Amino acid sequence: MPRLLLVLGLAAVVGLITGQMLACVLLALGGALALNYYRLYLLERWLRHRRNLDPPNLSGPWGDVVALVVRIYRRKKFHKKRMLEVVREFRQLTSALPDGIVVLGRDREIQWFNPKAARMLGLQRKVDFGHRIDNLVRNPEFQSYLDRGDFALPVVVRKLTGQDIHLSLQMVDYGEGQKLLVVRDVSREILIEAMRKDFVANASHELRSPLTVIAGYVDTLADDPIIDADIRHALEEMRRQSARMQAVVDDLIELSRLESNDSEAPFIFVDVPGLLALMRRDVIARPDRTCEFQFESESVSGMLGAESELHSVFSNLIGNAIKYTPAGGRVVARWWTDAHGGHFSVTDTGVGIAPEHLPRLTERFYRVDPGRSRASGGSGLGLAIVKHALQRHGGSMDIVSEEGKGSTFTCHFPDARIATRD
Ligand code: ADP
Repeated sequence: MPRLLLVLGLAAVVGLITGQMLACVLLALGGALALNYYRLYLLERWLRHRRNLDPPNLSGPWGDVVALVVRIYRRKKFHKKRMLEVVREFRQLTSALPDGIVVLGRDREIQWFNPKAARMLGLQRKVDFGHRIDNLVRNPEFQSYLDRGDFALPVVVRKLTGQDIHLSLQMVDYGEGQKLLVVRDVSREILIEAMRKDFVANASHELRSPLTVIAGYVDTLADDPIIDADIRHALEEMRRQSARMQAVVDDLIELSRLESNDSEAPFIFVDVPGLLALMRRDVIARPDRTCEFQFESESVSGMLGAESELHSVFSNLIGNAIKYTPAGGRVVARWWTDAHGGHFSVTDTGVGIAPEHLPRLTERFYRVDPGRSRASGGSGLGLAIVKHALQRHGGSMDIVSEEGKGSTFTCHFPDARIATRD
């Protein structure tokens, strides 16, 4: 601006001297305009071919504009480079991950996956983008997992192609309505678990026969009248301990049998009120029962299931209630049906269970008070057996308990399992 004023001033002076004021001023203005147009042209040409041209060497405000553009361009170039580095790092990281990752859109359509997911799920780059994951991973368990919509835990499926490959699939929410499918190969864990189960099953079977022989001899000797009183005392203890060992081995065999069978329990009619009435007779006749026992059958309906497993469920719960209820207490067993299905509950006025133990109660060998459980002949496997038998019948169990007051264990069976004899 000051330079333009100077030029105009000079033009005015020349105009005054020559007497051609208007022509001189117009000439000066025209020259200034032409110069600015030329600078604008240089700037525009440089912006257009920035990659191949150096920035024009302009002074004044045009020079400032060029410097500003150069600064913005440099910043953009830096951010672009950084972004490319981040993307490259992300790609390397996801390729190195031991797990497969699939990014899914709102309609479960595939947006992206890493090479591991491609290998495990048999997906193809580009070809499968945009297709729904459930159309490409065709597996009934995975489909019902998606339909259920409860993704807190993964679902384990057997891979259709390949040999014995087991995959764990878990959906994880992220972004807005998007999901990640995390895929892990859990074949090794499944194999180890199967080996563990086989080992427990084989070991318990191997122990059963020698134990029966030992228990038989101990029984005979303990009942022999010529045995010394001191030795008889030891024999009585041996008899008690061998009975406990037999109970543990029997429970281990039963648990292994239930665990090795993933399928549903058969649909064979079981007269539940009749079964419970028979059990009631046995409970009343039990010599170790010190509490009152009451049985309320509020339904004549029975169930479709495996009788031996249902017997195990009922007898374990009633047995526990009697074991953990001191003399003078009361145990009530109830069977009823309603619109939701069949229900069996056992309520006792016994020792109760503190809340922190409740979630772990159905674990194998989990005992609230190991001393008390062993003293009463408990194997620590009863509730694990109950849980597995219920699972095979599509059932579930609630436990409500208060320490020192008593507990209620309630089993729920689905309506589809409830039936009458005809
Ligand atoms: P156990 O053979 O030791 O009874 P269970 O698996 O049947 O094994 O039960 C696990 C633990 O749960 C028991 O050791 C006991 O501490 C607790 N428990 C089960 N039923 C009851 C009950 N009715 N009242 C109080 N505690 C119970």
